[in-house]
Amino acid sequence: MRKKVYFKTFGCRTNLYDSQVMMSSLQEYDITQDESEADVVVINSCTVTNGADTHVRSYISGLEKSSDAKIFLTGCGAHTKGEKLLSEKRVHGVFGQSEKQKIDFMLSKEQPFYDPGDLNHIDDVIVDDFIGKSRAFIKIQEGCNFRCSYCIIPFVRGDARSMDEGKILEQISRLALNGFGEFILTGTNVGSYGQDSKTSLAKLMKKISQIRGVRRIRVGSIEPIQISDEFKEILDEPWLEKHLHIALQHTSPTMLKLMNRRNVYRQDRELFEFLSEKGYAIGTDFITGHPGESEALWAEAMVNAAALPLTHLHAFTYSKRDTTPSALMKPEVSGTLAKERLHELEALIKEKNYAFRKNSSKELDVLIESFKDGYYHGFDQNFNKILVESSEDLLGNWININAYEVREEFNYAKF
Ligand code: SF4
Repeated sequence: MRKKVYFKTFGCRTNLYDSQVMMSSLQEYDITQDESEADVVVINSCTVTNGADTHVRSYISGLEKSSDAKIFLTGCGAHTKGEKLLSEKRVHGVFGQSEKQKIDFMLSKEQPFYDPGDLNHIDDVIVDDFIGKSRAFIKIQEGCNFRCSYCIIPFVRGDARSMDEGKILEQISRLALNGFGEFILTGTNVGSYGQDSKTSLAKLMKKISQIRGVRRIRVGSIEPIQISDEFKEILDEPWLEKHLHIALQHTSPTMLKLMNRRNVYRQDRELFEFLSEKGYAIGTDFITGHPGESEALWAEAMVNAAALPLTHLHAFTYSKRDTTPSALMKPEVSGTLAKERLHELEALIKEKNYAFRKNSSKELDVLIESFKDGYYHGFDQNFNKILVESSEDLLGNWININAYEVREEFNYAKF
């Protein structure tokens, strides 16, 4: 009888994607969704914070108590905790994410093993995920050359490397032929695309825009210093979504230095004002509660954040990750205070988003992505959410909306 494998995935969408690749590469085994009947459990782990490591460890403890399944560990945790877990005999084998397509071979190994794989590996499959029938995530690069002091990603995912341009364009052409109109370019550090292959993100985007059927292109997230003069030249293109997600992580100059970030607040502000004048909505990532964030620095950060034309926010409270420089920094900020600061910042950006939508008089170019509780849900060209009531089936359609109501949380229209 064929053995049954259960996949347990922790962490981000990259891991979800990697698990998907393992499942589709599996030939010699059956996949089960029921952990209790598994002969083999593959844990695709996350190691982004100490908390993430603890979750993986307690999951293994639970498994040891409830089943005899053979346990394999992969994912980012393979690099940080893999050897230790193997030496404690808590797992039978450890392999790096680069080995995911050889999953049959990995699971067949009789002897315990540690194979961290190759941190320079680059996948040849690039479609990350699809939303509905009209929007696709395209992975254009992997890894990161930055060394932000709180982040472990470069050590477990490797340095920045770009996917092959020909493959990206071919894949997008195929998807566009099948009706996909919006493409979201993703990766660990998307803006570094092309540095290793003498090209650039802006050049790639121009080529993508020339593909028939491509209507809108979005960049997952970009660093301020990656908005080069060449990138500024494409800002007026109609195919570029009028929303950029630019990762600042903080708005206090002192904190930015402590966090070993490459952005500088004064320049970030100039850049954001320039983009805002061009009609862009701007989102950012922000970490509250990093060690050293005193009351005074926080107050300064809030004043600075208020001065930025921000419309969207993806904020996190700091979470310690051993072996990173930040893990040794003092004084620490309590979790409760970090959360309070996060909420304070969220409230500020929520107000700014509401004001942005109230002051905007543009026709909305909306892609409808889902239908829930009687409303169609979509996003406009500024990445603002809209709920639409309609008797037509709008799912997956692009619609233009002139008349709509601006509500506090989202826009609303009848169509
Ligand atoms: S840019 Fe900084 S936070 Fe982002 S992956 Fe690279 S090192 Fe980590």
